Amino acid sequence: MESECIFCRIVDGEIPAVRVYEDGEHLAFLDTNPRSEGHVLAIPKEHIKTIDELGDEQTAKLFIVVKRIAESLKQKMGVKGYNIVSNNGEIAGQVIPHVHIHIVPRYEGQRSSAGFELAFPVDAKAKRKVEESIEK
Ligand SMILES: [Zn+2]
Repeated sequence: MESECIFCRIVDGEIPAVRVYEDGEHLAFLDTNPRSEGHVLAIPKEHIKTIDELGDEQTAKLFIVVKRIAESLKQKMGVKGYNIVSNNGEIAGQVIPHVHIHIVPRYEGQRSSAGFELAFPVDAKAKRKVEESIEK
């Protein structure tokens, strides 16, 4: 049966992708809109929308795959650091409704060495609440 989901279609081989890791339950491939060289997306093969909908074991296994990819980026590409990002839910900027973890390598001399705080600044009101809770 043909799926509407782009990631399910990649899993099925209907849409080509540069696959960098695959096992029975997971696939990892290069993002076609890379934020840096070696930007990988790791997904469970099962169509599940967000991380909270994964089982505990599925979650653990997916993050072990993420770790393997990070190790591989360090060993094979000499990557020194990386960001791990996952948008969950439309309100959080999730575009494709199939769980995916971005592994974004960072390189010396990149335009910005910032983390994601520039796009996602500190919420002053939330910060005050945390500080108030610590004081209690
Ligand atoms: Zn899917």
